Amino acid sequence: MVAIPQLVTEVTVQTANNNDSVTLLGVNIEEPTEATLHHEEIDSQDDENHDTDDNMSDDHPLGLDPQEMTDLLHDPESILKLELDSCNQCMSHHGMSRVSSSATPSVYKDVVVVGNGPSGIVLSYFLAGNWPYYNGCGESVNEMLHYRLLAASSATKNPQNSSIVEQDLRFLAQGLEGRSTNPVALLFDTLNHPDADLGLELPSLLEWQNNPKHAVDHVVLGKGPPGGAWQLMDGNVLTISLGCWMELPQMNFREWEATQEARCVRDSRASVASVAQYYCDYVLAHRLEQYFVSNTEITEVTRIPCSSAGLPTVCDNLPPDLQMEAAEEPSRKVRRHTISEIPVNSQNGREYRNRNRTLWHVKGFTRDPSNGGRKKDFSYLTKHLVLATGSSDSPNILNVPGEHLDFVLHSLKHLEQLITSGQLNQDSDPILVVGAGLSAADAIIAARFHSIPVIHVFRRTVDDKNLIFKQLPENMYPEYHKVYQMMQDPRSYDAYKAFEQHVIGEIRPDKRVKLMGPISSGVVKVSYIVICIGSHPDLSFLCGVERNLGVHPGLPIDCKRNPIAIDVSTHESVREPGLFAVGPLVGENFVRFLQGGALAITNHLNQSKKLAC
Ligand SMILES: Cc1cc2nc3c(=O)[nH]c(=O)nc-3n(C[C@H](O)[C@H](O)[C@H](O)COP(=O)(O)OP(=O)(O)OC[C@H]3O[C@@H](n4cnc5c(N)ncnc54)[C@H](O)[C@@H]3O)c2cc1C
Repeated sequence: MVAIPQLVTEVTVQTANNNDSVTLLGVNIEEPTEATLHHEEIDSQDDENHDTDDNMSDDHPLGLDPQEMTDLLHDPESILKLELDSCNQCMSHHGMSRVSSSATPSVYKDVVVVGNGPSGIVLSYFLAGNWPYYNGCGESVNEMLHYRLLAASSATKNPQNSSIVEQDLRFLAQGLEGRSTNPVALLFDTLNHPDADLGLELPSLLEWQNNPKHAVDHVVLGKGPPGGAWQLMDGNVLTISLGCWMELPQMNFREWEATQEARCVRDSRASVASVAQYYCDYVLAHRLEQYFVSNTEITEVTRIPCSSAGLPTVCDNLPPDLQMEAAEEPSRKVRRHTISEIPVNSQNGREYRNRNRTLWHVKGFTRDPSNGGRKKDFSYLTKHLVLATGSSDSPNILNVPGEHLDFVLHSLKHLEQLITSGQLNQDSDPILVVGAGLSAADAIIAARFHSIPVIHVFRRTVDDKNLIFKQLPENMYPEYHKVYQMMQDPRSYDAYKAFEQHVIGEIRPDKRVKLMGPISSGVVKVSYIVICIGSHPDLSFLCGVERNLGVHPGLPIDCKRNPIAIDVSTHESVREPGLFAVGPLVGENFVRFLQGGALAITNHLNQSKKLAC
């Protein structure tokens, strides 16, 4: 048994749950943040009490006080200034200047996807020419959808062989309800996992065909190997979703799992390590690796006009239509520009302009692991930029003094490494875990498994109705319920102390941490601090464009409060033509539902291609 040191005291009182002596400070504790479960179980898993980050103030979730926000929304100039500031920050953040990287020759791609997690992978699968077809067997699942699907295919040129990619998604998705607010996500999920929410594992109602004629020239770029966030999470943790809900089209997760040597012992959920491996194997099994460039980082994306003056770099493979457009003399382009303000084509209310397009210039570097991680710059030009970056790149921070110290961790994987290397063990001082979501629970489980003492600090009360634990069925998530039990009754557990309604006031270099509660404060000595309060996307490479993307323009993207505003049937930004987004960036956090985004984008590209012909 390892003893947890008592708080160093000045004036002694008792906290609600602990016998520890604490110092009275009379600190006001903020109201806990609302944790709303949007679509599925874990949406709020990391929505912890210290809901702040590096550029967010404590008072406003988007980092601005109410007056600042009102000013911003009513003053376009301040938005522009914010954009310019953000662009400058973006350039210096990535340690580069416009001039230095513009010399790299560009490669043209019809679609450039930033992010190689499940969103990027499933989109690549569609863009490689794999299209879904309704198998006609879903009458008992959803009669209305069944008849709409039959009607939609009979309205096409080739009713016997009409893919959903060629059909009107808005029409098909009418009236569908479920755990996503995006109708196309629900459409795809209903067909791919029929009646999944009833607990059934029925075969998919989709058949897939590969047709090379449908393939779109594209590239998927990502920082690590295919799998995105799944490659960075602690491999020992179990998924929240059922394992079979992590699968992508045409590769059954359970069948794949059965072929693996180290099989997961649980039936329903999968280990993060298996899911990460599944996504790598998926890319290989479907020959998608030709589209993937791993170990890459996008550092800058800019919108440029397709003109001889606008195109900044050499690009040998620009398609003929864009070459013609780029070669036109400037005076003619001015005239065309006026004409191009008039939509040249219109179908289903959507408008397409064939002239004076803007292109996206995507710059970054690839690291060569076989050459000591040497960086090589690259540059792409594209008409269609897809953001599939997920939301895990920048951990939220508490914004307290000392948080930069090297014993303060913001990732579970880092904790796991310290445990595996023996730097943390049962003789260590306690680790201090901050947060009341599932990541915090994972940290506690990992520490206790190795008998490492834990001090647990969270801002909410243990009875808060929004705590994620209250929303998980006990039989499926016994480990999380165990942690919740510990939070409720900490005195019954050795080497575990809970400080509900407490926040960190200061982290000192000697590893002493000041905790502040509603009626008291005190100091504890720790070995490491693990801050598990969620994360947010890092879209700094978009320079000022990010501020134009959210449902609240002018403010940074936040997957819960300010997702990217899109047309749900195309996933195109409502403000930046040619820019698309999928996954958590548009509020679709779960693999089951983010796949509808790939269908919407492919459907849109196909419609645009037909109209351009
Ligand atoms: C702890 C945890 C548990 C989860 N459990 C589940 C679960 O059980 N079920 C479920 O359905 N979902 C779960 N999720 C959510 C899941 O992670 C997402 O649904 C899914 O990974 C999103 O896929 P994505 O491809 O959109 O983004 P990600 O998987 O996040 O992948 C995006 C990739 O893009 C990369 N990227 C970002 N910026 C750049 C750049 N500038 N240059 C190059 N690459 C870049 C990122 O590094 C990342 O690797 C969980 C998430 C977390 C954090």
